[in-house]
Amino acid sequence: MWSWPPPLLCHDGPVHELGLTRAVVQAVGKAAERAGAGGVEAVGLRVGSLSGAVPDALLGAWPIAAAGTLVAGARLEIETVQAAIWCSGCEAEQVVDQFFALKCPVCATPSGQLVRGREFEVAYADLDMPGEA
Ligand SMILES: [Zn+2]
Repeated sequence: MWSWPPPLLCHDGPVHELGLTRAVVQAVGKAAERAGAGGVEAVGLRVGSLSGAVPDALLGAWPIAAAGTLVAGARLEIETVQAAIWCSGCEAEQVVDQFFALKCPVCATPSGQLVRGREFEVAYADLDMPGEA
């Protein structure tokens, strides 16, 4: 199995899952082409709970975005990253839901320090390499 170093796919503004999946297909397709792959078996995406991207919508858009490309037929595997803030009151990370109001859900100390949750990145891509069993 050939592993691909994960580039960060940033996005701003309104999220459109088809646009997002197309960007992923494009990036993975380019890497697969460069690697001389015959196709792509699976693509792993890391999606933060505050990224604005909806995993179900991404999965729905995936076959449409991948159709007719080197990525067509690849499995899309989404890993959801639960958002968390750093709380100076608790001196710990606290998991927050998407409606958090910049304060710690445990002790209510104000915090604007999001440590994760806005990810939208390709975690891995499993490529079909010619000659590979
Ligand atoms: Zn706290």
